Amino acid sequence: MALYVKKFGGSSVATPEKMRNIARRILSERQPGDQIVIVVSAMGDSTDDLLALASQVTKDHFGREMDMLLTTGEQVSIALMALTFQAMGVPAISLTAAQAGIIAEGAFSKADIVDVRPDRVFRELDAGKIVIVAGFQGVTSEGDVVTLGRGGSDTTAVALAGAMKADMCEIFTDVDGVYSADPRYVPDAVKIDEITNEEMLEMARLGAGVMQPKSVEMGMRYHIPIHVRSTFTKEAGTIIREETTMNHTQFAVRGVAQDAHIAKIAVLGVPNVPGMAYSVFNALAENHVSVDMIVQSIRSADTDKTDIIFTIDNNDLDEAKKVLEALKQEGGVPDVIYSDDKAKVSIVGAGMLGAPGIAARMFGALGRSGVNIDIISTSEISISCLIPRTDLTKAVQAIHKEFFGSEQA
Ligand code: ADP
Ligand code: ASP
Ligand code: MG
Repeated sequence: MALYVKKFGGSSVATPEKMRNIARRILSERQPGDQIVIVVSAMGDSTDDLLALASQVTKDHFGREMDMLLTTGEQVSIALMALTFQAMGVPAISLTAAQAGIIAEGAFSKADIVDVRPDRVFRELDAGKIVIVAGFQGVTSEGDVVTLGRGGSDTTAVALAGAMKADMCEIFTDVDGVYSADPRYVPDAVKIDEITNEEMLEMARLGAGVMQPKSVEMGMRYHIPIHVRSTFTKEAGTIIREETTMNHTQFAVRGVAQDAHIAKIAVLGVPNVPGMAYSVFNALAENHVSVDMIVQSIRSADTDKTDIIFTIDNNDLDEAKKVLEALKQEGGVPDVIYSDDKAKVSIVGAGMLGAPGIAARMFGALGRSGVNIDIISTSEISISCLIPRTDLTKAVQAIHKEFFGSEQA
């Protein structure tokens, strides 16, 4: 007897037939006494379709009404999934985030789960039902529905699993685990059997879209192992777990990640006096724009001007432009240049620290492929390079070949 939280992504629930297959699989694997909570995403590409629909009436994709619109996608899936079970004669109930006690706060479209109060979920499980919860959404203390950022159903599932002390959180998706690179970019990427929370979090933050970064943080907070696996096959996938429970020895490089959605902003000719960086980054933070790579450089020894160059998610570019152009009008910054054609490629591995020469190998692979590096940044377990977006596929493949080609890292 165990409590499972099983999350199915958009491609897994894309059609009623796929929903029926999921229901059949869950019922055939269920042991007597097992309690099952299912978290589902919107069907197929329906979140993108809703965004496209909104584009026909507004350019502004953030705010209360956008979240009201986008959360409908998951509500279609939960109801259909519950109806699927009921049609098979199995008691099931769908719950929205408000009904399941998923409490969230923060900006619309990127809210964070701050509390989970799963009393109703427990009651329905105890009444013998399969409970189907809408992913990607939360409810605020005001009663507004908010979304948790793209890929947010992963976070709903892990938060629920953690708060309910589930035995396992399973993330079912269209790949059979976490790979050494996105298989869409690198067809011969290799499946990773187990990966530490820290490595997975870094991969996810650096663009490995298979898990939303916040979901990995939730897993760390609640000490809950996560099994990423295929909806369509029964083989074991990848276990994301705490380092102390890992069986495998560390690899210097565990994976390559890429992010194609980067914009670069250069604030030029800023007076080299205290408080300038603060005024730029504080204005952005107040408007919920997160900044990633940052470089500040002095133009030359005999000038008192500096350039501040940084990157953001290109979905935030319009908001950042508004903020920085307002700052410019007020005389806060002299000149700003925006480029929306960048990408970031990264390598991740907890063993990287003790292995000299890793950075040189990455830069060598890029150099031999004729890819120019714009900005380099590092963390304890990763190295990232900002490059032209048009070179991204070739860069990811070259770096993957360097570390996972004939010679393993
Ligand atoms: P879902 O709809 O199930 O949430 P996603 O599209 O969000 O699915 O995530 C699965 C996709 O993540 C895969 O199809 C794959 O292209 C992509 N992905 C990116 N990086 C990786 C990686 N390192 N390993 C596996 N998949 C990855
Ligand atoms: N439907 C949402 C999205 O497309 C949430 C999710 O799939 O996790 O981002
Ligand atoms: Mg996803």
